Parts: sequence; structure tokens; C-alpha cells
Amino acid sequence: MTAKSEARVETHAFQTEAKQLLKLMIHSLYSNREIFLRELISNASDAIDKLRFKAIEAPELLGDDPDYRIDITFDKDAKTLTVADNGIGMTRDEVINNLGTIAKSGTAEFLANLTGDQAADSQLIGQFGVGFYSAFMVAEQVEVQTLGAGCADAEGVVWRSAGEDDYELENTAGLSRGTRVVLHLQEDALEFAEDFRLRSVVRKYSDHIGVPVRMLNQPLPAQPEGENADAEEGDAEAPAAPEFEAVNSAQALWTRSRSEVEDDEYKEFYKHVSHDFDDPLTWSHNRVEGKLEYTSLLYVPKRAPFDLYNREAPRGLKLYVQRVFIMDDAEQFLPLYLRFIKGVVDSNDLPLNVSREILQQDDRVDSIRSALTKRVLSMLETMANKEPEQYQAFWDEFGEVLKEGAGEDFANREALAKLLRFATTRSGGSDQDKKVVSLDTYLERKAEQQDTIYYLCAETYETAARSPHLEVFKERDVEVLLMFDRIDEWLMSMLTEYSGVKFADVMRGDVALPGEEAESGKEEDKAEDEADPLTERISQVLGDKVEAVRTSKRLTTSPACLVLAEHAMGAQMRRIMEASGQQMPDSKPYFEYNPGHPLLQRLDEEPDEDRFAELVGILFDQASLAEGGQLNDPAAYVDRLNRLLLDLLQG
Ligand code: ADP
Repeated sequence: MTAKSEARVETHAFQTEAKQLLKLMIHSLYSNREIFLRELISNASDAIDKLRFKAIEAPELLGDDPDYRIDITFDKDAKTLTVADNGIGMTRDEVINNLGTIAKSGTAEFLANLTGDQAADSQLIGQFGVGFYSAFMVAEQVEVQTLGAGCADAEGVVWRSAGEDDYELENTAGLSRGTRVVLHLQEDALEFAEDFRLRSVVRKYSDHIGVPVRMLNQPLPAQPEGENADAEEGDAEAPAAPEFEAVNSAQALWTRSRSEVEDDEYKEFYKHVSHDFDDPLTWSHNRVEGKLEYTSLLYVPKRAPFDLYNREAPRGLKLYVQRVFIMDDAEQFLPLYLRFIKGVVDSNDLPLNVSREILQQDDRVDSIRSALTKRVLSMLETMANKEPEQYQAFWDEFGEVLKEGAGEDFANREALAKLLRFATTRSGGSDQDKKVVSLDTYLERKAEQQDTIYYLCAETYETAARSPHLEVFKERDVEVLLMFDRIDEWLMSMLTEYSGVKFADVMRGDVALPGEEAESGKEEDKAEDEADPLTERISQVLGDKVEAVRTSKRLTTSPACLVLAEHAMGAQMRRIMEASGQQMPDSKPYFEYNPGHPLLQRLDEEPDEDRFAELVGILFDQASLAEGGQLNDPAAYVDRLNRLLLDLLQG
């Protein structure tokens, strides 16, 4: 902070992140510049909502100015556009925090991820939410005059910036309550000082807002040079002074009946509540009457926000009680796994002075939460049935989050499982790794005698798709779900059946093929294998590296594979736990070999015990590698393989 020579004007530097975002805003989003007005109107309406809430307990805050409004004026000659509200305003500290910094956690990482490619980056900024800084897309200078509700006259503040490195702050008396944002328009943005153009943009972006957005009812006549725009204020003595009239219908969108609201209005309202740049994928608007009365308007965004996996990121709906805004991010109304849903819930039953603490313990909130959860799931199911392509786009963005739900929301597990999509051994073509198969589809096309849903978890699609464990399934044309999201092993530990059909992990235990019984289901029961001399010889070499050695029913082309015990922790989960610093107890795999494989047949005939041991060691390491595992001693593996190659070359 450096104080300028003029005593009352201070110059402050923007926080680094704010500076970066500003720059991007100005250079990346120019193709749809008019949205700056949506952002400013949206902020003004939020400011009025906040004051309306505060005034319930402190009506004196309203003073002699009780009628809320947002006024939009322009001056063609001065090249200015002004958006003024009589909402809550800001104190000096609030101005510094709100307009000089970006408080959102994860902003630095977000900015680091930008590519420099404008088209791609503008999408990302859309996800971030554009906000106040979008004013700099059309303005070369922005001046914000603000006086907080309840503040003394002398506490008025003016913030001024050209959107570069810094901004100026000045204390000013004589402001009225609320915030005026004055844009000094760029030469190429003078369309926003044209009455006709402005009205159409204002109407587009403010019709759903529950407060009048007003403009003067006749354009100001051109004014002689040097005269300022004071007439805008509606000076009663000026002849034929224009008057303010509402441009919008000033009725909060969700309070209107569904049949009266156009799709475009729903979309605009979405952008207002979400600060998203894009249209929503779908929405659901409902009024519930009866024991509990509330209205909800829930939106599914097109794209996941950059902070979807940040536990501290704000989430939840805007809460209103009897049309009065109460709070943003009321997370109690939806479960964590639906944190991407945006929208509004307006309750008629909750008290106006409700707090977050009260929300946490209120039975009515629980009922609304469980009803809204069902509402979202059924909206998704409808999308999946009627617009499968759109649903696929949704799944690609939010599928992993929905899997959290399928694992933890017991009450809605079946509905959630219905929404899951997987890649399978029958996915093909260019989008092999696409997760497009539902469990219903899987069940429809399985063979009649198959009474299990088979799946396999691995680190990547490739590892899953080429796993030796799939060989016999491929040979017999039995479809297997291929899972490679980090959350999958956990999910499958929670999800044991779907539609009455059990899941089975093809990498585990003594998996049964369709029409076959699992061999007595006991892994220890391997009397016949133990009698086999090759099994015995391999066991001697592998020793306590494995639980046991046995011949395989899974393999048709590979020589060997590793199999997990029925209840052992999977490799994926183990890696996650170990990466988080937890020591996992050893669980040894079974070593299964394919006695029909030429390598094993050759091995069986190997008289030299050292060479036999060397080859078994290689088979073991390869089996581990094939499922994406890490070798304990990779160098030893390479040594062995090289010795073998040398042997081979020396003939
Ligand atoms: P967002 O609205 O997403 O929080 P913005 O950059 O648009 O981000 O605004 C930052 C903050 O500045 C707002 O959260 C609000 O606290 C404050 N603010 C912006 N415009 C106004 C206004 N007209 N009146 C009062 N506060 C405002």
C-alpha cells in the first residue's frame, strides 16, 4: 500500500490472483461482453437481498429510503454507464476485501491451470464465475461509490481503477446508501450507452430479479459539451424531466408458475444464482404444498466447477424464507455428493431468523433435504432416459461424484446405482474407455444362466482392458465392467448387488463363470493342486511371497496371474491408503498359472533348479506388472530378464 501525495486518496495494489484474473477477463471473454451487465445487476440484487434480510431485525437501516431498486443510467457524451442500487453497500474494509482480492480457496491453483489458449481459458473462467471484474471488458475505468447501510455519512468510499495493477480508495461524504458502479466505457463499447441496446440487455438479464430494475423513460437529449449528467437523477425542476420506470417484471422467478416461465428465463436465472457462464444442462422447478410448504428450483450445470473436490468449497442452495433471502450456500438442503447442484429453496415454514446451526438440527430441513435429493435423482433419471447424450455429458463431468452417493447414501442406493455408467469389455471403437454402459443394459444383455455382474478394478482403462484376468471371460463372451476411477474399489466395497444380482470381482478369489459353481468357495481347499508336482515346485520357489499357488481357470493365453483373496484390500485402495501415509497389513496374493501354456509346459521340463527359480521369478513379476502393480525389486527383474535374453542369444 502506498499513500499518494493527495492526503485522502490511497493507492492499493491488487492481490496477485485478482490481477491475473482481471487480465484474463479482459482478454479472454470479449466475445460475449454484454454479460458484464448481468454480473453487475446480479451483485446489486444480492446486495438488496442482504439488506432486506438485515432489515428484518433492524428496520432502522432503511432510513427514509425503504423502496428497493436498481437504477441504470447512461450518458452518451460522457461515455458512462451507471448501475446504482440501494442495497447493503460496503464499508471501506469490505471494499478492499471484495474488490481487491479473490477469497475463493484454490484460486492460485486454478490460475496455474490456465493454458494461455483463449478459447479454452474462457471456458475455465466461466467455471470460475466472472463477477464484478467483467466490468473491465467494456470499461477503461470503473468507479464504485458505496455507503454501507447504517454507516455514517463520512464513511462513504470511492474505489477507482483502470483494471491494471492497482486501484485508488478515497473516503467521501454525501453518498446515499448502497452502491453505484460507474463505468467509463471504452471507445468500442459505446453501444452500452445507447438506450435501445441497453434496454434489451437489461431486460434479458433482469427479468427474473425480484426487485425493480429501472431506466429513464426517455433518452436524455444530447447535452452541450461540458454539462454533466445530473439530470439523470430526476431533477424535478428540469422541464420534462424523464422519470424512472421498471424495465423488468420484478417478480422473483421461482415464485412464478412453471407454465409462465420461458426456458430462456430459467437459463438467465441460473446464471444469476450460479455465476456460471454457460447454460445449465437441465433444471426442475417445483412447488410443494401440504405439511411443509416450499418451492425449489434446482439446476444441473454443464461443467464441473474447478473446486468440485475441494472440501471447503462453498456448496448448496440459496435459501429464502417467504421470499426473503436468508443465506447463500445453505448446504443442509442437499447431501454432499450433490454439491454441484445450484438453485434456490424458498420455505414458508422456517423462521426468518434461522441460522446455520438451527438448520443442522431441524426436522423440517431433513424432510426437505430428502425430498430434494429424490427430486435431483429423478431429474437425472429422466435425462438419462430421454436425452441419453446429454446424460452422457453429465456423467463425464460428474460421474465420480455420483459414485460417492452410490457408496454412502443407503436410502437412495438403488436409484443411484441405476444412474451409474461403466466401460466394459464390450466397449469398442474410438471411444473405448467411455463409460457408457448402465447396469440395466448389462443385465439386459447378459446370458440367461449368468447370475453375477462381473467387474474388474485397475489404475487405467488400458490396464483393466488387457488384464489377464479377463481372458476366460472374453473367450466365453461374458461382459465384464471395467473400472478405473480412484473411487471404484471403495464403491464396490459398498455396493454388493444391483436389482438382486450380486457383483463379483474377477480378480478375486475363486470366481465362478456363468453356469458354474464356485469351487466350494474355499481358497484353502486345493488338495488336488497341492498334489501336482509343478504346483509344488513353484510354491517352493515363491515361498511366503504368495498365499498359495494353484492352476487357473481364468487364463487362456497368459502364463500366470495374481489373484486377491476374497476379502483382501484391493491394489487401488492399498495404493491410496499408502500414499496417505498409512501402513497397510500385508495381504498375499494367490499365484495362478495356466498349465496349458507352452511356457509352463517348458518350465515343467526344466531340470536345472536355478534356472527354474529364475523363470518362476520372472513369471511372478510379470503377473504383477500386468495388473499395473509395482515390483518390489525392479532391478532384479531386469537382471533376470537380461540373463535370460543373453542365454537365448548365445543359443
Ligand atoms: P461474487 O458476486 O461472485 O462474490 P464479485 O466479484 O461479483 O463476486 O463481487 C465480489 C463481492 O463484492 C461480492 O461478493 C459482494 O460482497 C461485493 N459486491 C459486489 N457488488 C456489490 C454491490 N453492488 N453492493 C454490495 N456489495 C457488492
